[in-house]
Amino acid sequence: MKESSKSPKLIYEEKKAIKLFLWLFNIIFFSWEIFYYYIMPFISRGEIDFSRDGFGISYYIVFLLVLTVSIYFTKKKNVYIVKYIYLISYLFIDLIDNLIRYLGTDKHFTSGNIVEVLFILFSPIFVNKKYFWMVSIGLVSKDLLFGLILQDTFALVPALTYLILSLIAYIILTRFYSYISSLMRVNDELRKKEKLAIIGQMATAIGHEIRNPLASLKGFTQLQQERYLNTNDYYPIMIQEIDRINSIVDDLMYIGKPKAILFEKASIEEIIAYTLSITQQMAEGQGIMIETTLAGPLPPLECDSKQLKQVFLNLIKNAIESMQDGGKIKVHVYINEEKQMSISIKDEGCGIAEEHILNVGEPFFTTKKEGTGLGLMVTSQIIKDHNGKLEIESEIGKGTRIHVILPVLQKNVSGS
Ligand code: ADP
Ligand code: MG
Repeated sequence: MKESSKSPKLIYEEKKAIKLFLWLFNIIFFSWEIFYYYIMPFISRGEIDFSRDGFGISYYIVFLLVLTVSIYFTKKKNVYIVKYIYLISYLFIDLIDNLIRYLGTDKHFTSGNIVEVLFILFSPIFVNKKYFWMVSIGLVSKDLLFGLILQDTFALVPALTYLILSLIAYIILTRFYSYISSLMRVNDELRKKEKLAIIGQMATAIGHEIRNPLASLKGFTQLQQERYLNTNDYYPIMIQEIDRINSIVDDLMYIGKPKAILFEKASIEEIIAYTLSITQQMAEGQGIMIETTLAGPLPPLECDSKQLKQVFLNLIKNAIESMQDGGKIKVHVYINEEKQMSISIKDEGCGIAEEHILNVGEPFFTTKKEGTGLGLMVTSQIIKDHNGKLEIESEIGKGTRIHVILPVLQKNVSGS
């Protein structure tokens, strides 16, 4: 996410983390310094020497300066860079301080300030992978570089320790990430559901209002057509377009409230034949041949035949629309090994891109200029209501095979 696009809530979270970090850093940093340079020598030698080696006292002044700049940035500017300011200043100042202290001497390197452990173990609280890597790589390579310059293998001890601590911090960080991403997914799903519920309510309300005027429009158009029999070729087109609006309204209303199902015995042969009779003309217009194979005597289905006709109409229309250059559509109906009714519709069309496979069937997902993206949504809902299954196999550029599986004997014969 771009930092400039972060919401005030996230900025507030970062501020909280930074405040905690600044407090802990400074308490640990100065306590360690006091303990290491003043209390320990006092205990062992009984005297205090205020002339700290390395940078000397100005070492502390520089860190107080960094603290001042950081508070300024936290309050007035970009809070997100404060953690980097601290890290980079620390690495830089500490490296120079240690070089002054050890270069040209034969003293062995003793580990750095304990605050470095805080850097690593605290890094997951910023939930930022870039920062984590900078901390780990920065601290480890500082000590490696130091060991290399001084030719002192003692510097390898902290480097190795930090490597292990980084591993722990990394595990914590990835846990944070995975937890946050599941939360976001749940949130997305909820929002999608809410959105659909609202669209569904609207669609149902508007659909009801549109239907009545549409019905009278169709009735009057038919009347006009009968009255002026030989005068106008446009009536059939007008009626066809009114039917198209009607079917879009029907599909839209499906989002809000799936229709009650009327189960009755029906023959699949009849349903397929009806679907083909409607789509035949459209297919021929595009140079497409539809080949149908009905295997053996097929048992009757317990179904809502009107709705199943809608299913196969949608599927065959999609197949035709995917084949702009003509070709063949194979419709195969048979009883599969599990004694279920299987209907497969195979086209030689454009296929569905892999990244779209999961989206087809979502309301309003369409890749067509004049598509509504409602067909597969309605289709899969109807099949679900029939306790059936819809499977899609597709290869881009080669074609798509849609497989509908319906139980032959409907056990729960009830509306949804
Ligand atoms: P629409 O047909 O209005 O676009 P659908 O819900 O019927 O809506 O289909 C959604 C999308 O799924 C289509 O836009 C298309 O990208 C893809 N699709 C469905 N069936 C096929 C098919 N047989 N071949 C290629 N793409 C398909
Ligand atoms: Mg469609």
